[in-house]
Amino acid sequence: MPGAILDGKRIAAEMRREAAERVARLAASGIVPGLAVVLAGENPASQVYVKSKTAAAREAGISEKTLRLGADVSERELLTTIDELNRDDGVDAILVQLPLPGQIDAKKVLEAVDPSKDVDGFHPINVGRLVQGTPAPAPCTPAGILDMLKREGIALAGLRAVVLGRSDIVGKPMATLLLRESCTVTIAHSKTRDLAAVCREADLLVAAIGRPAFVTGDFVKEGAVVVDVGINRVDRLEDVERLFPGDAARRAAFEKNGSTLVGDCDPVTVPPRASRVTPVPGGVGPLTIARLLLNTVDLAKRRRG
Ligand code: NDP
Repeated sequence: MPGAILDGKRIAAEMRREAAERVARLAASGIVPGLAVVLAGENPASQVYVKSKTAAAREAGISEKTLRLGADVSERELLTTIDELNRDDGVDAILVQLPLPGQIDAKKVLEAVDPSKDVDGFHPINVGRLVQGTPAPAPCTPAGILDMLKREGIALAGLRAVVLGRSDIVGKPMATLLLRESCTVTIAHSKTRDLAAVCREADLLVAAIGRPAFVTGDFVKEGAVVVDVGINRVDRLEDVERLFPGDAARRAAFEKNGSTLVGDCDPVTVPPRASRVTPVPGGVGPLTIARLLLNTVDLAKRRRG
């Protein structure tokens, strides 16, 4: 059936149950995995993400703590916090919520995290391991997407995959993971020529650009699997009506909350061409959180033997 939903929310719930079971098994041998989240500044989206991540961790039985630092935190203070967490034996996993305030060099901070506690896999050592295919935590969003594709039984070897976006946190690691699964991978970006034609070659299209409904049906090969990573907030009624024409539920949600979310894919023209497509919200977001829990458990197990 064209446009069948790839239900990230359901798969994430399965993954979260598995994480909880693994935490319970570790707890039986006296190990409680610990996650520390560093949140600097007042970015409202970051506050929401951190709340969801720590609530999910608690629900799985992971011990969690959030270190909140002001928007004016200095790089030195942030590095000191990371150093303390690196040396804290109860902390198995450190997550630095991005973006960091402008005065901080994010690369420097991410490099300060002990690679054996680097739950997001952003440390250069873990990036290198990911490329080499040696065990390492992989960034939660692309790793969660891969979990979903595998759990849904989508045979990846030999597929033409196009990853739209080349960020360090989504596009590049997604491409690396798909290459490791023997996809033939193209990475497309803002300088790519004939973007729609490049995307149309994909059996599997992963869109991660942060542009509301940019990917339209003419980017999608008939029958392709489409993963929509984008999270874009829409807060004007005319945009909601244009993006979700005749969608009474969306309109009602918008009227209740004052905004709604749309992905990077056009919700009207993409699903009819795709065989499977992730919804926004309820697609990739929940998978990112579920993978964070599994990465935390993996790190705890590896670090504490
Ligand atoms: P970045 O802004 O870091 O990267 C965006 C990428 O998209 C860049 O490589 C850029 O190309 C490319 N791009 C931007 N505009 C275009 C265009 N018009 N045509 C082609 N390529 C374009 O974004 P992120 O990777 O961090 O995030 C992407 C989206 O995914 C965002 O909406 C974000 O909110 C969402 N996201 C969702 C997560 C989830 O859990 N669901 C987690 C992380 C992100 P270039 O390099 O050439 O500038």
